[in-house]
Amino acid sequence: MRTFSKSSKLDNVCYDIRGPVMDEANEMIAKGEKIFKLNIGNPAPFAFNAPDEIIQAMTDNLRNAQGYSDSKGITEARQAIYDYAHFKGIPVESLNDIYTGNGVSELITMVMQGLLNNGDEVLVPAPDYPLWTASVTLAGGTAVHYICDESSEWYPDLEDMEKKITNKTKAIVIINPNNPTGAVYPKEILEKIADMARRHELIIFSDEIYDRLLMDGVEHTSIASLCPDVFCITLNGLSKSHRIAGFRVGWMTLSGDKSRVKGYIEGLNMLSSMRLCSNVPSQYIIKYALGDYTKTDDLLLPGGRIYDQREYIYNALNSIDGLSAVKPKAAFYIFPKIDAKRFNITNDEQFVLDFLREKKILLVHGGGFHWEQPDHFRIVYLPKLEDLEYSMNEMRDFLKDYKQK
Ligand code: PLP
Repeated sequence: MRTFSKSSKLDNVCYDIRGPVMDEANEMIAKGEKIFKLNIGNPAPFAFNAPDEIIQAMTDNLRNAQGYSDSKGITEARQAIYDYAHFKGIPVESLNDIYTGNGVSELITMVMQGLLNNGDEVLVPAPDYPLWTASVTLAGGTAVHYICDESSEWYPDLEDMEKKITNKTKAIVIINPNNPTGAVYPKEILEKIADMARRHELIIFSDEIYDRLLMDGVEHTSIASLCPDVFCITLNGLSKSHRIAGFRVGWMTLSGDKSRVKGYIEGLNMLSSMRLCSNVPSQYIIKYALGDYTKTDDLLLPGGRIYDQREYIYNALNSIDGLSAVKPKAAFYIFPKIDAKRFNITNDEQFVLDFLREKKILLVHGGGFHWEQPDHFRIVYLPKLEDLEYSMNEMRDFLKDYKQK
């Protein structure tokens, strides 16, 4: 009998956030077990609501949004993105250089499909948001991981980055603010990355989806604002900042020297046309969502849920023997280190699975973010404080006598 397996294009593609551990959790849920999910950065299920004016803007415009739009998006959405980009100092020239997407995810795959030939290399951070590595691989490229340094606030290790550039390298990806570490990169680091891209003639991709989820008064700099001479693609969206991951709203802006990327832009235009357009009702809310750039969401200030939950998880993790964590400054993730030697951990996925089976709490292992050593995991600290407290008490209890077999 004829059988069908996945295409060989997917052979080395790996996206473990929704991978085997989650499959096991789903089986447990199907059997009626209650699982505490600390694994996915999706605000809505944790009782975070979208701002009312966003829902209103979407419903008010539904009648106008029945047809396809221009493949890059409706003008008023792109105008709002253009204004926001300029507020951030990104030198976008025209609305033609702005593309809306069904979430940033669609655009991440699009930018790699449009650029890479088999064997091309792209520098991607470790740890990374794994869709970047998966998209490079799916497009036939090789993701070469540069280290982000935990002992230095998880900033990119610039020496390591430069060392990994070869004559096959086409681009550098940065995720700033970062998922999974919550790091926000200072201007000096970004300037050095920009300089590296300039010297080695590389494209910069900057994923800035968390740029409006900042805490402790830190400021976010868009790398594209520092290098108007370097071709940069900056990606952003509303899934996280406006708690509307389900609406699928993302965009990208092209800036810098376009004279040497004409062919690539043609490719992007073709791919953008092939998917016809992004979700049109969602495009209508961009203008409202980007209305006030300067206001910090109350959730991110002391007394706000994201801030208070960050404080709790950071202190709790650091008070558990064998765990330590750098304080995240943005987003809603923390990437703690576990003393692998002490707990005999040689397989971090197994560790997460053991914890799931015993305590019914779901995490993602560090390997899911292309972190090589089996000594990290990611927690999403969106669940309510009492659930985080419960989970951390269970973690403390679990580690008391855990030894990996
Ligand atoms: N980029 C980063 C760094 C993310 O963490 C995520 C989602 O978790 C995405 C992109 C994708 O977001 P979306 O497709 O919802 O816009």
